[in-house]
Amino acid sequence: MAPPSAMASDLTPAAVANSIAKSSTEANNVTDQKLAELDPSKLKVTITKSPRQFLADSSKIEWGKADVSTDHWITVKWSEAAGWAAPELKPYGPIDLWPTASCLHYATECFEGMKAYRGFDGSLRIFRPAKNTARMLVSSTRISLPSFSPSALEELIKILLATDGPKWLPEPGCFLYIRPTLIGTGGALGIHRPREAMLFIVLAQFPVLYEKNMKLLASREDSIRAWPGGFGFAKVGANYGPSLIAQKEALARGYDQILWLFDKSCQVTEAGASNFFVVWKNKDTGRVELVTAPLDDKIILDGVTRRSVLELAKDRLTVSNGEIQALDVVERKYTMMDLIDAAKEDRLLEAFAAGTAFFISSVSKVHFRGEDIYPKQANGTYTGLLKGWLKAIMFGEESHEWAVVVPETGFEFDASAADKEINEMVENLRRMKDNPAFAPALQRVQAEV
Ligand SMILES: *Cc1c(COP(=O)(O)O)cnc(C)c1O
Repeated sequence: MAPPSAMASDLTPAAVANSIAKSSTEANNVTDQKLAELDPSKLKVTITKSPRQFLADSSKIEWGKADVSTDHWITVKWSEAAGWAAPELKPYGPIDLWPTASCLHYATECFEGMKAYRGFDGSLRIFRPAKNTARMLVSSTRISLPSFSPSALEELIKILLATDGPKWLPEPGCFLYIRPTLIGTGGALGIHRPREAMLFIVLAQFPVLYEKNMKLLASREDSIRAWPGGFGFAKVGANYGPSLIAQKEALARGYDQILWLFDKSCQVTEAGASNFFVVWKNKDTGRVELVTAPLDDKIILDGVTRRSVLELAKDRLTVSNGEIQALDVVERKYTMMDLIDAAKEDRLLEAFAAGTAFFISSVSKVHFRGEDIYPKQANGTYTGLLKGWLKAIMFGEESHEWAVVVPETGFEFDASAADKEINEMVENLRRMKDNPAFAPALQRVQAEV
């Protein structure tokens, strides 16, 4: 018998590894039958005949209001009996789903949020993709959706980007949002683990965000996002629908996001779909600290941006450097009262939210049940340094192992004339087939071109 630490419900790294190993043998009590793995080399490709509209003016992108997805998406069906079917890259379009599909009733859904960046050297990059694909496996395990190889998912993301990247990322400095999603599809009411599922990846245009300071509204006493033993650490749809009512109140009152508190002690956890950081002077030692909530209780999301901020700060900010005073990097529980004290004693230097969608956003104000808390500096020194370093890595100005280049053989900066679009996409796919970076994934591509 597997040791308790390797039980899938534990979600430890060992349990997740165990879950991958078991992914082909979990169904129907069959333990010796090999089910199909997620396999990018089986990809079938259908290029669109009606390209979607690219919005060159990023201010026209109605993020959150209009569907600004790109020309293609990738779908992969899974069934308990057969495992993963051949992935399909095809024109973006609606899903055929039974009204009794599991995800529509029991929230068997999880997702990821990543970005692809067009670098200043013309290359297309994704940021620490292995962190996102591994986290997606943790999320899917938490809600009884099937396992998959994270590196196979990464490969599929790269193939989709290589197809749509040339048209949809025409200029240095722009980016696309990447949304890998997994849903339980099997049509049968009855509360049980989904017997069918579908993985899909869509890409969407995203507005270039202007430097905007965020104002946060601390969550109400009667409202909670996550709790120990729950699923706050997983990127599952079930975490977000119920939080929209609080988000709506925040917007109506002139704030940008909710700062989620936990427990009567008002522990500070995270802000909207971002992790939350403060820079303050420690009450006892007077030393400058970069502080964020710990992952221990599994009530906050293990953000890739959060990790990257912590790692960069440990690497580059813990020794004094000219004007920049060294700081300590601390993951620990702290409360709203600690924040209020720090602000009153003039020790609260900076605050920011960190996540893929809205990157590093400086926080200029937090409202907590009648009190306003202001960090001393909006767009502070440490916030600015961390933001600049991350941006340089994402856009290829600093060469770094976190930024993974996605090869696109057909990319040209001026390839955007509308009537050439389809031919260019077809040509790009042909060249991708010859690109060693995409073998073996595309060796057996059956392009209907
Ligand atoms: C996605 C998300 C984050 C940020 O994670 P990143 O990997 O940095 O994008 C933080 N908190 C919540 C609740 C999230 O959904």
